Amino acid sequence: MEELSKKDRMNIPRQSMPEQDALERAQNFKEVNLGYTEELAKMEALRCLQCPKPVCIDGCPVGVKIKDFIHLVAQGDFTEAAYKIKEDNILPAICGRVCPQEEQCEQKCVVGNKNDPVAIGRLERFVADYEREKVGLRSVEIKIKTGKKIAIIGSGPAGLSCAADLIQAGHEVTVFEALHELGGVLVYGIPEFRLPKEIVKAEVDALKKLGVDFRTNAVIGFTDTVDELMTVEGYDAVFIAVGAGLPYFMSIPGENLNGIYSANEFLTRVNLMKAYKFPEYDTPVFDCRDKDIAVFGGGNTAMDGVRTAKRLGARRACIIYRRSDAEMPARIEEVHHAQQEGIEFIFLTNPLEFIGDQDGWLTAVKLEKMELGEPDASGRRRPIPIKGSEYIMPIQMAVIAIGNGSNPMIRKTTPGLEYNKRGNIVVQEDTMKTSKKGVFAGGDIVTGGATVILAMGAGRTASKAINDYLKNPDLW
Ligand code: FAD
Repeated sequence: MEELSKKDRMNIPRQSMPEQDALERAQNFKEVNLGYTEELAKMEALRCLQCPKPVCIDGCPVGVKIKDFIHLVAQGDFTEAAYKIKEDNILPAICGRVCPQEEQCEQKCVVGNKNDPVAIGRLERFVADYEREKVGLRSVEIKIKTGKKIAIIGSGPAGLSCAADLIQAGHEVTVFEALHELGGVLVYGIPEFRLPKEIVKAEVDALKKLGVDFRTNAVIGFTDTVDELMTVEGYDAVFIAVGAGLPYFMSIPGENLNGIYSANEFLTRVNLMKAYKFPEYDTPVFDCRDKDIAVFGGGNTAMDGVRTAKRLGARRACIIYRRSDAEMPARIEEVHHAQQEGIEFIFLTNPLEFIGDQDGWLTAVKLEKMELGEPDASGRRRPIPIKGSEYIMPIQMAVIAIGNGSNPMIRKTTPGLEYNKRGNIVVQEDTMKTSKKGVFAGGDIVTGGATVILAMGAGRTASKAINDYLKNPDLW
């Protein structure tokens, strides 16, 4: 099979991802995508043309050696393929599931010029699962201990990737996490049906085995400040990776009514605190059964919110988005899955006011229709209200998923850190060094809400710089 001509390879169709039946999965929280079999993975890998200049790599924010790992898959050497990816990406089982490959590596894939691009993300996911399930995550050798102590604040992808590199460099690494579970958005935001929590746990457990000290329920800025970590606790460097977890609201009348959640609160209650198993788990969440539920926004968070509401039994679960489907930032796969599951999309529509009953419970939303004008600062066409188009839609629950800003806790308690006007920490891009000596930052707290792979890449950039810094702090 390896001897296939380019034409033969081009003639192989993209292998579909096996998935749970749409009607069935809309009623459970089990993973939607079931993953490639060995045969499907090998067949998909044979579609790769093994280009002399693999431009797909230019599309990967962390430069995974895509051509090499796919070659190993085609040969059936799945474990080596996983190790090859891990040279550049320590969380392939996660990125293979949630990365927007269609806008990154797969968008550059040469096969995609004529046919569907090679399913790089699905292959990444397959080999990572193969390693974890069949051979176990590889344990790495730790260099001689350096005696240096590093504090990492936040256990999302930025914090975890930084911790992985720094522990392997021989430093003592402590990760402080505000919540009671580790993994950041990977556990509290992205639902089980897209990213099973056992995968994140396996990665965290591997880091624990390497000696990373995780402290949960530790809110830095409250339990200890960044300065106290360095002057009292003796940490030689700090990496701030606290993400962007402060939800934005729409500031329209009625937004304080009962039955209106931020997406963060709704998803945290359901995912992290297992509200979908109430009363087995003691976390109440709005009873969605036979109710009409609207989620406002068009990103991945909105898709996760509305699909969660559907799974909790909503009669009508809809996305209300003020632009058109072409401007929606959510991944195409997620939108497609949502449509299959019976989610309703109401485009070019904006909420003006929430309406409640005498007891303060949401009963309806007042909406207006929009049309698209010229592109705005984001490059997307600006939505403009259509006069006289207002109407009332009955709903009993609303989820606001229009984005997040940075949590002010660190900002308020850490003098000397420079911020931009959106409240994100300013860093030097090539090192993630902040304006405060010995303090580095990366992930969503620097970029604003972005992606898992960018956060992970930032953690790795910071780890390299922290290594250099620790060798000679006076030069920094
Ligand atoms: P986070 O993952 O936010 O982790 C930060 C951690 O820091 C949290 O655990 C938080 O509790 C902790 N923390 C905060 N303050 C403190 C403090 N003071 N002390 C101690 N700990 C603190 N990206 C994709 O690529 N694909 C997707 O499909 C996708 N879907 C998403 C769905 C949802 C619902 C959301 C919300 C985001 C999604 N994203 C997706 C974005 C992605 O998850 C983030 O870009 C990424 O997780 C950012 O990583 P991070 O490490 O910077 O921060």
